[in-house]
Amino acid sequence: MLMTSERRPTVRTMRGWAIHLLQEAGAIRECEEHGWMQDRADPHARERAFNIAREYPLAGISPDAAAAEVRDVLNSIGDTCPECPAD
Ligand SMILES: [Zn+2]
Repeated sequence: MLMTSERRPTVRTMRGWAIHLLQEAGAIRECEEHGWMQDRADPHARERAFNIAREYPLAGISPDAAAAEVRDVLNSIGDTCPECPAD
């Protein structure tokens, strides 16, 4: 089954999982108008997200890898929506 190994659904799944987790923790939110994720820069929410990631990592993923994925997603998300006019 070499073909299935070419696909990398885990990466996408992990990212989606991390985004969902960050939203649940309140660390990021979605722009209501444009749908871009925004970092809310809330250290408590981030901490909560990391705690959840380490306690309930995806099946087959180590707590460290789960936390690293959450950090990657956070790093990739800006604190403003790129399409919203700046204040
Ligand atoms: Zn926007």
